[in-house]
This record gives sequence, structure tokens and C-alpha cells, in this order.
Amino acid sequence: MLTDSERHIRREKEKAKQLRASRWWQNLVAAATCYYCGKATPKPEATMDHIVPLAQGGRSTPGNVVVACKACNTAKGGLTAVEWALKLHAGAAERHHVSDHGEK
Ligand SMILES: [Zn+2]
Repeated sequence: MLTDSERHIRREKEKAKQLRASRWWQNLVAAATCYYCGKATPKPEATMDHIVPLAQGGRSTPGNVVVACKACNTAKGGLTAVEWALKLHAGAAERHHVSDHGEK
């Protein structure tokens, strides 16, 4: 038996697959920069990231997906964009001497 949450994730993952094949996404990825670190993200590096993760009830809709580089997507994991931004910020504050992030 699947829980409602598992059903939701399964359904939204299927929708994400369809969204990735859409012209909307292809156009977005064609000139993409990472939503999180702002780096130019050429196609092989560009991943679809859910601002609100599916596991937290997010949906695979254009309003909830952004282009993220693989590094950011992996690092963000199951956090929401807001949680991730806070974490990035905290991390940057802690290790500001070894900033590999450049200044904003
Ligand atoms: Zn990035």
C-alpha cells in the first residue's frame, strides 16, 4: 500500500518527466543559469529542481521548478528553496575566509 505522500511523489515525478520534455523547459534550459548559485549552467549540467520538494508536497508545475546546476541540486537535497537559501547563507557566513562563491 502506498501512502498519500508516496502517491503524490510518484504522480508528480511523472509530471516532472513530461515537463522536462516540454518546449517551455527546453527553452528555459537553452539559456540557463543556476537558480541558486547564478552560474551559467549548460545543458548537461542543468537539472530540474523543485522549489518546494515533492516530498514536502510540492508540485511539478512551471511555478515550482527552476534550473539548478547538479552541484546545487545535490547539495539542496530535500530542502525547500527557502531552507536551502538560509543554509547557504549560514554556510557562507561561517566560512567567509575561504569564499569560493564570489561576492554578490
Ligand atoms: Zn548552482
